[in-house]
Amino acid sequence: MFVTGMQKILNYIGGQHTEPLTGRYLQNINPAEGKPYSLVPDSDATDVQQAVEAAQQAFNAWATMPPEKRCAILLRIADLIDRNTEQLALAESTDQGKPLKLARAVDIPRASLNMRFFATAAIHFASEAHITGSEAVNYTLRTPVGVVGCISPWNLPLYLFTWKIAPALAAGCTVVAKPSELTPMTAYLFSKLCTEAGLPHGVLNIVHGLGPKAGQAIVEHPGIPAISFTGGTATGKKIAATAAPMFKKLSLELGGKNPNIVFADCDFDLAVRTSIQAAFSNQGEICLCGSRIFVERSLYQKFTDAFVQQTRGLTVGDPLDEQTRIGALVSEAHLNKVLGYIDLARQEGGTILTGGKQVRPGGRCAHGYFVEPTVISGLSETCRTNQEEIFGPVVTIIPFDSEEEALHMANSTPYGLSATVWTTNLTRAHRVAAQIHSGIIWINCWLFRDLRTPFGGMKQSGVGREGGWEALRFFTEARNVCVKL
Ligand code: NDP
Repeated sequence: MFVTGMQKILNYIGGQHTEPLTGRYLQNINPAEGKPYSLVPDSDATDVQQAVEAAQQAFNAWATMPPEKRCAILLRIADLIDRNTEQLALAESTDQGKPLKLARAVDIPRASLNMRFFATAAIHFASEAHITGSEAVNYTLRTPVGVVGCISPWNLPLYLFTWKIAPALAAGCTVVAKPSELTPMTAYLFSKLCTEAGLPHGVLNIVHGLGPKAGQAIVEHPGIPAISFTGGTATGKKIAATAAPMFKKLSLELGGKNPNIVFADCDFDLAVRTSIQAAFSNQGEICLCGSRIFVERSLYQKFTDAFVQQTRGLTVGDPLDEQTRIGALVSEAHLNKVLGYIDLARQEGGTILTGGKQVRPGGRCAHGYFVEPTVISGLSETCRTNQEEIFGPVVTIIPFDSEEEALHMANSTPYGLSATVWTTNLTRAHRVAAQIHSGIIWINCWLFRDLRTPFGGMKQSGVGREGGWEALRFFTEARNVCVKL
């Protein structure tokens, strides 16, 4: 259904903003209001085909452009992101439901940083050489892999979109990208900034639309030899099944069910305050959120009381209100999923210590998708509530009696994305970190990132590592050249 007068988001193919070839659009809903506010292309394989052709045409010139020139263009894009922070933050908040304040402070600056980091990393990137006695020199020649597919999720729209495309562009690849159709606006605004920055036509192509249609067409396309994907584990499995028989390079950043382990010797105030952020930032819709809190028994009651009290102090409401800490969930379907998990927790014998209900803030947000931040106790680590990714403002809290038990419970899910440990005992911090099956372990902090480090999950949280040199290497093909001396 078309709603007249609504802003139309357009695809970005060969440097032009274009309608989808079928002329079909989907409604883009503002989740805080529960109402459509713009239209997003419902692209299909024919649009993807056009985008791949544009990317193929642009490839040689971009791949052979001196890295300093590529760097300068990408830095111009970063500058434009900074200059347009307010507009981008508003778009991010309107699409996704997150507090505007959070989009302004985290999402948009980190998107700009992604561009800056990879733009400059590429000019410092060095390949390897090995002197083989006095007989030969072996060197590793790295060349851009070609046209790559980048697919990103809805929870941190511009931040994760740029996290995928920045290293690809910096490495000299051209890109066909698809943001989530639930949150397409910032990628659309970003494409306009690319034009303004002078990015050559066809270097970045953005095809909007549904995952199983436009996304799947990217994954299946024989002209795309590498796919970088961030999203859910179930989608990741499907992508891997499609891409593996085609021998594509694959980087998968998938779901998480992250443990937050609190030892009795922690800095109590810091641990409670940061655990609240780790639990509820972005309505709990961050893959790195600490959704399973394990607390040493001697501290359990004190920690739980303080945690519940601070949770009750979080304002749920209009994302545009500066006081709001918890905005809207991204969609009605996701709202129902999260409420379904709260019901499941009750059925599994859990006690809702606070929250548990939908919120109707009133005013323009009367029909939005809001849920109270929810804390649940009394569940075992093996129940579904503690095994499956809820991806909302819902956490469980469980006591433990020993370090061994904490580790056992922390490692008991199929996921292995991130973990947080609270202790002032340095020896224990290192010992525990080495035994947690997660790609990133934060000691006495959360969400602190140094982009030089490899990033990614263990077990069903992903395959491959992104960030730093790993990302640049992913987007290159390595040849060993052996020169006999
Ligand atoms: P999805 O897996 O549903 O979707 C991710 C992207 O893939 C979207 O653009 C989606 O399009 C697209 N897609 C869906 N099906 C296919 C397909 N068959 N082929 C190609 N593309 C497809 O994830 P969500 O958007 O729901 O994001 C939330 C998930 O992302 C959570 O599980 C979260 O943990 C994870 N995540 C992981 C991170 C990490 O770094 N490990 C970081 C952030 C999130 P569409 O939206 O149109 O369906």
